Amino acid sequence: MTDSGHAFPAEEIIARVVRPEIRGLSAYVVAKADGGGNAGQPWTKIDAMENPYPLPEAVQARMSAALSRVAINSYPDGSGEGVKRSLRSALGIPQGAGILLGNGSDELIQLIVSALAKPGAVVLAPEPSFVMYRMDALYAATRFVGVPLSPDFSLDRDAMLAAIERESPAVVFIAYPNNPTGNLFSERDIEAVVAASPGLVVIDEAYSAFADASFLDRVLEFPNLLLLRTLSKVGMAGVRLGYAVANPAWVTQLNKLRQPYNVNAFTQAAVEALLSDTRWIAEQAAAIRAERARVESALAGLPDVRVHATQTNFVLARVNDATRIFDGLKARRILIKNLHGWHPLLENFLRITVGTPAENDRLIAALTELAPSP
Ligand code: PMP
Repeated sequence: MTDSGHAFPAEEIIARVVRPEIRGLSAYVVAKADGGGNAGQPWTKIDAMENPYPLPEAVQARMSAALSRVAINSYPDGSGEGVKRSLRSALGIPQGAGILLGNGSDELIQLIVSALAKPGAVVLAPEPSFVMYRMDALYAATRFVGVPLSPDFSLDRDAMLAAIERESPAVVFIAYPNNPTGNLFSERDIEAVVAASPGLVVIDEAYSAFADASFLDRVLEFPNLLLLRTLSKVGMAGVRLGYAVANPAWVTQLNKLRQPYNVNAFTQAAVEALLSDTRWIAEQAAAIRAERARVESALAGLPDVRVHATQTNFVLARVNDATRIFDGLKARRILIKNLHGWHPLLENFLRITVGTPAENDRLIAALTELAPSP
């Protein structure tokens, strides 16, 4: 007996009712760079694909004014009509396409998987790719099939088509550009996947602001295509807004699973104010692309560093000993992502988010110290 009079301690009840695959997980840990020792010297946190720039003052003022008017005693507009209007006019969403809003695109990935998770359903994605495709399949008790990318990180078209034929997946996820490899897959290969897929194909364009290609204009060409986008990588990760664009028939179905007020009133008000002029977004994305090129060429000049060009806001580099470099950067209060151990194709790879020019200078200087001399 426990003090409450309940016959079993929590651990015992948990062991009985929580699914074993959930008990076996460790919670997602978001790396913190908030000091500890060596106080005073700030951390350079370039591990999470955040936009490093603050809002321009005029945009900040516009957002503050909008937030101060939010009536928090009422529920937000459940369908987020104002936000959808802003997205349509600001971000070139094709006429006739439906939009579904999410609390980040993470929520939409989970919602899509849970809508399709019939017993026996399969979620398929190339690997390595965004880990939440696999995780959300696990949460929904659905089988995940990962198809290895080719060693040059392109889609292994034959393997993808064979897996689609064999597994008949309910949904195929393709990140375009891909995270963590940073590249765009060939448009022809994706078309072949969409044509061969009996179910939904989600093209996740989280990094589209930094890429030279998109399927947005073509979304209505295919009855089984859904495009995912997010505001997170273009300076608004904190507002948590993702959106899906697809044939309205898909939006109608998926909308049934959406929590009634999944996008809160502050987010809605902020997004409308933030998107009423989008020049700042384009300017910041252009600055990030220019810095990406500068960091890539600086790193390519270092001994034992091989840079893999990306179409995202991060730089991908292979080194001789990723963990040594990662630890060396950490000792210099620079936090990046060590991809070593994630997937056999990522052996000794590092993923470095493009920061401000000053942050990138610090990174380049530290890597220059850490890279062995030729
Ligand atoms: N898709 C991809 C490919 C990502 O890399 C990320 C974030 N790392 C997301 C979706 C989720 O983004 P958010 O939930 O912030 O919209």
